[in-house]
Amino acid sequence: MPSESAKKANRKYYLLHRQEVLERSKVWHRLHPRDKAATRIKDREWRKNHPEYDKLHCNKYNATHREKRRLYGISYRAKNLEKVREGYRSYYSKHKTKRIAAVIQYAKSHPELSKRKRATRTHAPGYGYTNKKHVTARWEMFGNKCWICGKEATTTDHVKPIKKGGSHWPANLRPACAKCNASKSAKWEGLNTVTELKQGGLKCKLSAENFNKLKAS
Ligand SMILES: [Zn+2]
Repeated sequence: MPSESAKKANRKYYLLHRQEVLERSKVWHRLHPRDKAATRIKDREWRKNHPEYDKLHCNKYNATHREKRRLYGISYRAKNLEKVREGYRSYYSKHKTKRIAAVIQYAKSHPELSKRKRATRTHAPGYGYTNKKHVTARWEMFGNKCWICGKEATTTDHVKPIKKGGSHWPANLRPACAKCNASKSAKWEGLNTVTELKQGGLKCKLSAENFNKLKAS
């Protein structure tokens, strides 16, 4: 690596002769086309042997290009959604106990959050009105099956989520299995039919038969 003073001198020279340097560099690269694959391998090797430098460099870059990094992250996620999800899943399965403990710990140290959640639930319209009979009737309307995957229902889904201002009125309730309900979470706009859910990229393992049945209903 060049010394600090040499680096400074280089920088000074570059700033004074920027255009000239860039032109020269262009010509050099035209005469010496890069073997991209080989360069990548070489880079990787070098990075492996210099983890400290790499880390420092990345941190410095990330700190000065925060917005660019953020936008890159968003576009990467959108393009590689399944890969990213798979990464989360594999991390979760490897560190399940640790993650659960962390969530419990977080809830304990932020009691105001669960209080707020409870308040949202008890203040939603229909709370205290809707009873077991209403829920049973709604479940029967869907054949006691999860409206998304058609398997046995285990939870009650709110069509318009409570979090988004939905109510507990019976018309807003429908049966779902725990897995589908969790993956639907508080999403709902444009995701209210099985077709929409599928187009919205929501993971739902629906058999073709059940899909057609639900589509027709
Ligand atoms: Zn389901």
